Amino acid sequence: MGKSSKDKRDAYYRLAKEQGWRARSAFKLLQIDERFDLFRDVTRVVDLCAAPGSWSQVLSRVLIKGENFGRRAWEEKQVRERKIAYGEGKDGNVGEVEDGKEHRDQDKGGELRQREGVKIVAVDLQPMAHLEGITTLKGDITHPATILRILQALDPDTYKPDEGQGESGTNPVDLVLSDGAPDITGLHDLDIYIQSQLLYSALNLALKILKPGGKFVAKVFRGKDVDLIYAQLRCFFKSVDCAKPRSSRASSLEAFVVCQGFEMPKGFVLDPARPVGLGAQVPVPPKKSKAEKGEGFIDGQKRTVRDDGTAVAELDSDSEDDMRWIAPFVACGDLSAWDSDATYHLPKDRVSLDPVQPPTAPPYKRALELRRQRGGLYGKTTKEVRKEKE
Ligand code: SAM
Repeated sequence: MGKSSKDKRDAYYRLAKEQGWRARSAFKLLQIDERFDLFRDVTRVVDLCAAPGSWSQVLSRVLIKGENFGRRAWEEKQVRERKIAYGEGKDGNVGEVEDGKEHRDQDKGGELRQREGVKIVAVDLQPMAHLEGITTLKGDITHPATILRILQALDPDTYKPDEGQGESGTNPVDLVLSDGAPDITGLHDLDIYIQSQLLYSALNLALKILKPGGKFVAKVFRGKDVDLIYAQLRCFFKSVDCAKPRSSRASSLEAFVVCQGFEMPKGFVLDPARPVGLGAQVPVPPKKSKAEKGEGFIDGQKRTVRDDGTAVAELDSDSEDDMRWIAPFVACGDLSAWDSDATYHLPKDRVSLDPVQPPTAPPYKRALELRRQRGGLYGKTTKEVRKEKE
């Protein structure tokens, strides 16, 4: 894409470079946190599909370094402004907070609010440049072996390579994130389908490692059957919202499911041979009215209990309506935030910034090497070759 393209002038693209984020996606996670207070009481996190690593950077800066972004920064700013308005000035017990800056708690002698026992594991198909305090794994989230590798990275003493997975109830993770995206083909239906399969892989993984009460946030493309995905997620989480951060282009189908309060349905046993989302079987979802009252799962709904005790609903054309449920749509990000669909004109004297983290092994690396080595056709840009032909 050319430098003058809309993408390059996108406010978040430039802001990410200015603030040292590896990708503009960092703002999506920050804006989701601003709305949902995602990181409250969270110390152990798995970041799936993490490369180049801007979400991991957010995790590292919030959980390891104790920097203050998101909801807490916003709340404290409100309190401070109110205090100033009421004449208490800056000497109250509210720390000096500026969004995105280090948070120092005045009551605790200016210490950063670092958390104890923080463990963060990041996984991606692509290699990812190292980030301090984060364990990075090169792996495929659709592969069953990845779960054990994650558990081993989190607790090397508990999970040995040849021992199976932990018993349920000992699951060690507070939050699972997945910003997974396939290579876009441009065929909408196919892209939406592949994206949903990535989401299901992330969900199946999350179901095995999340603590009761844990949270799951994943990218979703809002295709025509997205309500089926919401309903399936609602089987496992007390609340499911569809979040659209301001930094995610309004013109894009992209959104994020924010699932909170993980609870394995009674009688539901995860079957590796029949992962959730594969085929036409799903756990029995709550009915709308009851779900809203938080009453959980309904007895008496048409269901099959298999020999292994797994309760599933048969998804046939009669029962499909029961499977659908619309998640509340929540726009995130302060209205004062930049608009990702707008084109902002930059000053003439602006300096073009280098990428924060150049790709470690980009697919075009070999072509660049050849160009350098051979010259000739390989040594020329497409523009130059085209000019010669004319
Ligand atoms: N959250 C990241 C960040 O903030 O830098 C950006 C993620 S990027 C939009 C999507 C990533 O999904 C890509 O790096 C891609 O390699 C990864 N991905 C796609 N399919 C995957 C799979 N099956 N297993 C692991 N990672 C996958």
